[in-house]
Amino acid sequence: KDFRNEVRPNWCPGCGDFSVQAAIQRALANIGKEPEQVAVISGIGCSGRISGYIHSYGFHGIHGRALPIAQGVKLANRDLTVIASGGDGDGFGIGLNHFMHAVRRNMDITYIVMDNQIYGLTKGQTSPTSAHGFKNKTTPEGNIEHALTPSQVALGAGISFLAQGFSTDINQLTRLIEEAINHKGFSLVNVFSPCVTFNKINTYDWFKEHIVNLDNDESYDPSNRTAAMTKVIETNGLCTGLIYKEDRVAYEDLIPGYKPEALVNQDISLDRDLFEQCLKEFA
Ligand code: SF4
Repeated sequence: KDFRNEVRPNWCPGCGDFSVQAAIQRALANIGKEPEQVAVISGIGCSGRISGYIHSYGFHGIHGRALPIAQGVKLANRDLTVIASGGDGDGFGIGLNHFMHAVRRNMDITYIVMDNQIYGLTKGQTSPTSAHGFKNKTTPEGNIEHALTPSQVALGAGISFLAQGFSTDINQLTRLIEEAINHKGFSLVNVFSPCVTFNKINTYDWFKEHIVNLDNDESYDPSNRTAAMTKVIETNGLCTGLIYKEDRVAYEDLIPGYKPEALVNQDISLDRDLFEQCLKEFA
């Protein structure tokens, strides 16, 4: 099972997104998926290119809309493993409303965000996760807004699976993505994935200095939502590992009359008499 394809990513050398791509490919192979069982749906941004870099079904959507498309794919074919992916600007700026509703809806989708705290594709503007005081070309005197913390937003919206990874720890990231895919419900894996070209503040070294790895804390209990919220507030969102997980029935299993077999496999051959009757009724 090989999820690599012939397409060569055009990310900058050293971009954190390479590790995310590799971790997704490894996780899918480790779980034992076949490429035709997987769909990767992405938004717009450097990270949004990932749907073309994995050997599976892929859909490169529009800005901020990876999640609505992914949910449509899952509803049409629940047999597919559906992964949505994109960056912090895509998912937590223009796409934030879709994110919040996807979280509370709890459809069985894995959302992998490459969070570099900047808009990379458009050459380095301040993003929703850029820190207060962050200086770059669009905020030369420092960002006057406060950053959105994805882990806090996700927990507040009622997420059933939340994890965070860091591009330098590909083994942890692979394991977290595997767990997220195996989780029956909506899962977020938010990855600190440095933009080496435009973000000269939140570098690999900066993240190494600030990240708290929950794997090193044996007393941490990821089944406790209050403890999870406390931890992400304490660490200013800069913690990695499994942050929160609960078992909850996924959205598609609660829809009245929704059949267990995928819609794409159901017999939709036309009932001619019914069709004629409908035509008469609506003529
Ligand atoms: Fe990665 Fe930044 Fe280059 Fe985009 S601009 S490919 S985010 S390093």
